[in-house]
Amino acid sequence: MQAIRIGQGVDIHRFCAGDHVTLCGVRIAHDQGILAHSDGDVALHALCDALLGALALGDIGQHFPDTDPTWKGADSRDLLRQVLRLVHGRGYHVAQVDVCVLAERPRIAPHVLAMRSHIAADLQIDMADVSVKATTCEGLGAIGRREGLMAQAVCLLVQR
Ligand code: MG
Repeated sequence: MQAIRIGQGVDIHRFCAGDHVTLCGVRIAHDQGILAHSDGDVALHALCDALLGALALGDIGQHFPDTDPTWKGADSRDLLRQVLRLVHGRGYHVAQVDVCVLAERPRIAPHVLAMRSHIAADLQIDMADVSVKATTCEGLGAIGRREGLMAQAVCLLVQR
């Protein structure tokens, strides 16, 4: 296996009735909620998939099936920490991650520092190695019509 590995992940969830969304472990007040088995944290789900993908370990749905009551209402930060254990178990550490949230609303910018600090803590790396950013979809497509939230993530792993 190569000493440097790259991974990418994508996730999308629908809005439903509710009063908040959770992104990178940050609870953000919103006039809708997220339909999901877990807490519906698309950003952390995309990041988990990036980390798993980097080591060809499958995807988040295989590791944490939404048919398993264990993961009902799960805190996605717990999932991320479990994925990190798999990464460490394969002899790699996380060098860098970059997460992009696609959302018309809520606004992400005010929460970016808190999001980065959660990911840095959970992955045991410096905040300087964690990027979180966001974009709207300019009103285009399902995200643009405010039907849900989407996130993409990439990561770089280096052999220890
Ligand atoms: Mg998901």
